[in-house]
Amino acid sequence: MSMNNQGRPTTPHAASASETAGTFTGNRALMQEEALIFELDNPGVVGVDLPEPATTKTKLGGVKARGRIGLPDLAEPQVVRHFTRLSQKNFGIDSTMYPLGSCTMKHNPRLNEKMARLPGFSDIHPLQPESTVQGALELIDQLAHWLKTLTGMPAVAMSPGAGAHGELCGLMAIHAALEARGEGHRKRVLVPESAHGTNPATAAFCGFSVDTIPAEDNGRVSVEAVKAKLGPDVACIMLTNPNTCGLFEPQIKEIADAVHEAGGYFYCDGANYNAIVGRVRPADLGVDAMHINLHKTFSTPHGGGGPGSGPVVLSAALAPFAPLPYVVHGEDGFRLVEHAADAEGKPFGRLKTFHGQMGMFVRALSYILSHGADGLRQVATDAVLNANYVLASLQDVMSAPFGGPCMHEALFDDGFLKGTGVTPLDFAKAMIDEGFHPMTMYFPLVVHGALLVEPTETESKSTLDQFIATLRHLAEKAKAGDAAFFQAAPRLTPRRRLDETAAARKPILRWTPPAQPVQAQAAE
Ligand SMILES: *Cc1c(COP(=O)(O)O)cnc(C)c1O
Repeated sequence: MSMNNQGRPTTPHAASASETAGTFTGNRALMQEEALIFELDNPGVVGVDLPEPATTKTKLGGVKARGRIGLPDLAEPQVVRHFTRLSQKNFGIDSTMYPLGSCTMKHNPRLNEKMARLPGFSDIHPLQPESTVQGALELIDQLAHWLKTLTGMPAVAMSPGAGAHGELCGLMAIHAALEARGEGHRKRVLVPESAHGTNPATAAFCGFSVDTIPAEDNGRVSVEAVKAKLGPDVACIMLTNPNTCGLFEPQIKEIADAVHEAGGYFYCDGANYNAIVGRVRPADLGVDAMHINLHKTFSTPHGGGGPGSGPVVLSAALAPFAPLPYVVHGEDGFRLVEHAADAEGKPFGRLKTFHGQMGMFVRALSYILSHGADGLRQVATDAVLNANYVLASLQDVMSAPFGGPCMHEALFDDGFLKGTGVTPLDFAKAMIDEGFHPMTMYFPLVVHGALLVEPTETESKSTLDQFIATLRHLAEKAKAGDAAFFQAAPRLTPRRRLDETAAARKPILRWTPPAQPVQAQAAE
């Protein structure tokens, strides 16, 4: 088999027929195999027809290109097909259900997209004079008002670009508040075992040490466990509610009170806010800072690393330290406070060049206004209902570590696969052949072989029924002893099992031309 320098077969039919669909071309039905655009390079082919220049006299003063600049030469139809084919391989929420726990992959209403494309929002520049972008500033202000009202918090920092960036914002505000109090010696941050990896990473990045709080047998954090860790060197606790096991933390108020009494702050990871929006105000739970993933709770599209938006609501204690810039409504309309000297409080600095992710702000406000207060309440209700439907429907064939009911996520463990020779990974790969993106696997870490399903509120009963029937079928198949079937999955994907460890540890991020001159490819 001839391989290119990335270890990919260069001839589509090189892989053994039993390993693939067995087609001559490597194409599968109407899905085309696609090479890298550099491999499609066809030197001399161009997509434009320019007239010969009238004069051949160079104006470059002798600085002439000595060779090709490393970009592929392609005609327009090849370019169109290349990117269209890639788009067809890009699995997304527009294709089918995407039950990735904690990620809240829900439908992105098209109304949001229409609003975000209005020229008054999409064609403006952050450096335009403020008088020409009053509507955009008012939109940021209105969205801020909604986020503050829904959470009950007095302030919000709009600029963070994602949830993790919001955590950074929150911890920098906490750091600034502690310094202002003369208590910069508080360097310990409490983080429950079940936390999302970004929580301890953020704390460490900000120069804090991370102290882990063990989970109780029921998947929750107890006030006793927190109290045992409190002391004069504790800066804050980072707690998620509902937590990453999909469970509400019933002692959250007691925990907040204990942390406050010990002089610490309460950072709440708000990634799971869609489970409680319109029903619980985080301010009433004693929260000092919480990021809101607009791209999760408020339906702005995400995946593949961007774009995101993670505004952080802040309590009165932390509000003075909110980062620059922020929008204020003055006598002459809206303006951005850009400099510490113009700020009322003591901003800790700036997290982004400009004010934040404008396109996401527009989508989020469109979502909020089209739902209204009653609709947002319904979001939380339906998110919890759908997850409980999945949990209850599969409880007899799969195993749930904490029983029910749950909040917006149904958590299973690998108990039901015990003795079958099928791992959660094998099980997930078999789901791919059935047309479902796998759920989150092996997270949260407190549950052995975790399978975390977040159906979200936008899935219909018929989609959920099909998903449930598929998982039921696969669970029964695993129990029937067909381990080989699972170990060979996925069979129907463009690529089968990959060496994920090598891909993570030794990623090849740069394409270099093969040593041997490649044969020119036929134009399409
Ligand atoms: C998604 C998520 C984060 C991080 O948010 P990003 O927007 O991906 O940076 C943090 N905590 C939890 C629980 C999450 O689900």
